Amino acid sequence: MLSDAHRRGSRCAWCSTALTAETAVDAGERTAEDGGQLFPRGCRRCAAVAAYRLLQQHAPACDVCKVSAACPTAVAAVRLMREGGL
Ligand SMILES: [Zn+2]
Ligand SMILES: [Zn+2]
Repeated sequence: MLSDAHRRGSRCAWCSTALTAETAVDAGERTAEDGGQLFPRGCRRCAAVAAYRLLQQHAPACDVCKVSAACPTAVAAVRLMREGGL
């Protein structure tokens, strides 16, 4: 019998650590306007680092971020950073 983890075969997109329901971060895999994937599935720590990097690139170029703190991309990134202890 294979465990659920084996069946899913889910691993961190960045460090390839095997993910469980408790360690995995799935930010709802959304597609950015340019077609790129914002947050693939990964472990908390890697997702936090990736979110931080994304925010650094995103914020200066985002018209929503310039005028408000309610940009969904920024909110999601900050949440991932907090969850990952960044
Ligand atoms: Zn990882
Ligand atoms: Zn933004």
